[in-house]
Amino acid sequence: MEMNFEGQVSPRLREGIKNYLIDIDGTITDDVPNEQPERMIHSKPYPDARDTINHWFEQGHKICFFTSRTEDLRKITEEWLDRNGFKYHSILFGKPRGGNYHWIDNHTVRATQYLGKFTEFVEKQVTVDVFKD
Ligand SMILES: [Mg+2]
Repeated sequence: MEMNFEGQVSPRLREGIKNYLIDIDGTITDDVPNEQPERMIHSKPYPDARDTINHWFEQGHKICFFTSRTEDLRKITEEWLDRNGFKYHSILFGKPRGGNYHWIDNHTVRATQYLGKFTEFVEKQVTVDVFKD
């Protein structure tokens, strides 16, 4: 079973399995705005992103593309992901535009900004904002 249902709380993934939420435009391919869907169709994937994401998929992690593209771009997006060999489980459309994301959740959240290289992760000490004790 992929989820642990224990007691009266929401289910959690099996130990060691991650729910990856991965941006599309500017992260796995060129940064194309919603207003230019014809460019989305022909944009080239970043091979290191595809290889790393597919490796995570093969390891059993959950791959969800979380994008500011709108629902009307679903068909273009699904066809592009399939044509370019991305393995994934789901796509969430309608992420707020504008960047500067800060996610608050009762579950563990880690965030990694894409800066031009899509590799397996390395550990690095950084400072993060947390709520007061
Ligand atoms: Mg983006």
